[in-house]
Amino acid sequence: MPFKDFEMAAAGHTGIMTDEEESLFIKPVLKQEFDFYNTIKEETFKENSLLKNDAENRGVLPINEWIPKYIGSMSKTSNVSKEDVEKMGDLANMSIQPVYNNTNSTSEAQYIVLENLLNGYRTPNVMDIKLGKILYDESASVDKKNRLIKVSSETTSGSLGFRICGMKLANQCESNYDLFQPSEFCYNNMNTYISVNKTFGRRLKTPAEIRESLKLFFNNHLMGEEYTRSIIKMFNMRLESLIDTLENTKSKFISSSILLIFESNIDRIREHELDDDLIDTDFDILGYLEEICDEDQAMEIEGEVIDVEDIKRGISLSKLKLVDFGHSVIGKNTNIDVDKNTIDGLKVLKDIFQQLSNEF
Ligand code: ADP
Ligand code: MN
Repeated sequence: MPFKDFEMAAAGHTGIMTDEEESLFIKPVLKQEFDFYNTIKEETFKENSLLKNDAENRGVLPINEWIPKYIGSMSKTSNVSKEDVEKMGDLANMSIQPVYNNTNSTSEAQYIVLENLLNGYRTPNVMDIKLGKILYDESASVDKKNRLIKVSSETTSGSLGFRICGMKLANQCESNYDLFQPSEFCYNNMNTYISVNKTFGRRLKTPAEIRESLKLFFNNHLMGEEYTRSIIKMFNMRLESLIDTLENTKSKFISSSILLIFESNIDRIREHELDDDLIDTDFDILGYLEEICDEDQAMEIEGEVIDVEDIKRGISLSKLKLVDFGHSVIGKNTNIDVDKNTIDGLKVLKDIFQQLSNEF
């Protein structure tokens, strides 16, 4: 089996895989998440797309910009050969992909294959924040609904409209970890990372506690305050822009998360000179790099000398993405409106980021 466990998930279920090069994120999904990605894919290429109509006309980023690139799907039962993976690797490096579709098999175990958002990063930190006060949809059983109502009412999900679900922190500023109780985190085998589990975020109650947690997260590097300040500022802008997008998108994101990702490897940060984009183009850059490096290290393409290091510098230092669409829908349906449940939570979080920016 050419796949291995994906070890950098900040939260969620087990069973996620990646390929040898760690360019892919392969997650077992149910039909609804599969449908969600297929809708995004279909709509991305339509002239009068629901993603673009409202959003782009108003100068707002379309929703697909905030979502990991969808490469395809595969089913658990199919024997995936080495060649298939290589093929998938190639596909991962194209900006537009055909779907590896198995349309009649949506009832069996399916995996979606996405870009690995951490590809190109050397020592990333990751935080998963689950959005919304309401955490269940109509499909939930009575038991599940009651359980989720309880979770919401006892956590910041209910009071603020979002909750920290988990984190992966590079183990380089250990002194900061006394914010966590022993049962709330563990070290990996090599002691290079700590995983903060969901009990941490469930214990937090106030905006001040959220602010402290974010501060800990964004300080988890050895680059000094200027870097902290610049990434907080970027995330603040990204939140504002994502809210704009959602205010122009018919959707319902039940139990989806945002991922906050930033680099803490000093060499990479120094090479980069801190100028990050609102939306990364990592997927395209990595695809291009793969292409030119395949060509026998020939760095001269069509008469132009290509500086690989220059291109690598284009890989982002931080990014914000929306993930986890097992209970989410994007509005083809006229009965779907703008998603107030998600937007309200993001606005509260944005205020906390604003306060945090003012502190630095
Ligand atoms: P679940 O349904 O199990 O909650 P998620 O889609 O939320 O699954 O993914 C679980 C975790 O995996 C997230 O918390 C995040 O850290 C990580 N993750 C999700 N999507 C990607 C991706 N495309 N690339 C890298 N990491 C990802
Ligand atoms: Mn999740």
